[in-house]
Amino acid sequence: MQIIKLHDLYFKPFKSTQQIDAAVSKMALDMAVDLGDEIPVFIGILNGSFMFVSDFVKKYPKPCEVTFIKLASYEGVKSTEDIQRLIGLTQDLSGRTVVILEDIIDSGNTLSEVHRIFKNENVKQLLIATLFFKPEAYKKDFKIHYSGINISNEFIVGYGLDYNGLGRDLPEVYQIKNTKHMTNLVLFGPPGAGKGTQAEFLKEKYNLVHISTGDVFRYNIKNETALGNLAKSFIDKGQLVPDEVTIDMLEAEVEKNADANGFIFDGFPRTTAQADSLDKLMTKKDSQINAMIALEVEDEILVERLLERGKTSGRKDDANEDVIRNRIKVYYAETSILKDFYSEQNKYYGVNGVGSVAEITDRISKIINKL
Ligand code: AMP
Repeated sequence: MQIIKLHDLYFKPFKSTQQIDAAVSKMALDMAVDLGDEIPVFIGILNGSFMFVSDFVKKYPKPCEVTFIKLASYEGVKSTEDIQRLIGLTQDLSGRTVVILEDIIDSGNTLSEVHRIFKNENVKQLLIATLFFKPEAYKKDFKIHYSGINISNEFIVGYGLDYNGLGRDLPEVYQIKNTKHMTNLVLFGPPGAGKGTQAEFLKEKYNLVHISTGDVFRYNIKNETALGNLAKSFIDKGQLVPDEVTIDMLEAEVEKNADANGFIFDGFPRTTAQADSLDKLMTKKDSQINAMIALEVEDEILVERLLERGKTSGRKDDANEDVIRNRIKVYYAETSILKDFYSEQNKYYGVNGVGSVAEITDRISKIINKL
């Protein structure tokens, strides 16, 4: 599940289809035991309950009847209060066991209306069941006989529930996200593809924090820190620094920039373990990776570019053609699996990395602007 945007608001994953399914099953089975041989009339309150009712009655293991009613605003009533009434109740329900199925009960206003309507229906019993219940928001005294999932007083959408018309179709439930929205990019590509150069432009343009794991390692090596000494032997040979070391370092860099509008990750992740840990870190921050932007450049052009850079950069791993070729090999062998990782999430964007710096920035910007 991903963060989604409906109209102007962002929503984060809240309940998965499996969690909802388990709650609905439990309600149906509990109720079936309680009702014994009674054939209940289930009444869903539209629109929100349509998905819940559909799943609920499929799971209800005994004969039952199903119908729906809808709340409609009174026409021509001058009142500041939102007066509504229920419509669609045409069936004779005298002597029947009626179970109201609600998607969500918060303040309980709809429920008062339900009780008002059913006062004159001579039903045998009126039971109230709701998939979601907000105990903190509930202001009424009517008993709620069955509730599936108790939630705090946050706005949710999905599984029948909407925000201004959108979101009812979603099979899962999402919760409103009040924390700042970040744009997080993974800049990807073999050594010499121009990630560093592009990151410099993009971080200015989009006000993002650029974290290059290679740069952080080199900084630590230069300052002879414990981390630097550990990483040096791997880096000099063109090998990857072990995941535990790299992941810890990356997390520390992200935490240093708690107020960021978002990040450009450059040189990270390079393994699936790193990609998984990055997803977890983003979830912890109520956020996600929005896109992996991969610069695509042929090997021979890369070798040429890196040897050229090695003349002035002072980087040992740029000076030697064998080390360069090994880094490119490592990149394809170990890290191109990440293309699959992000492709599966529909987040992979390949960009032609040959051209002028401005041209390439422009190609990348077109992708970011559409996110
Ligand atoms: P770069 O500047 O991105 O080409 O990185 C230079 C070197 O730093 C790599 O060849 C690795 O030895 C090390 N390094 C940088 N990022 C990572 C990472 N995500 N995982 C493991 N090692 C890394």
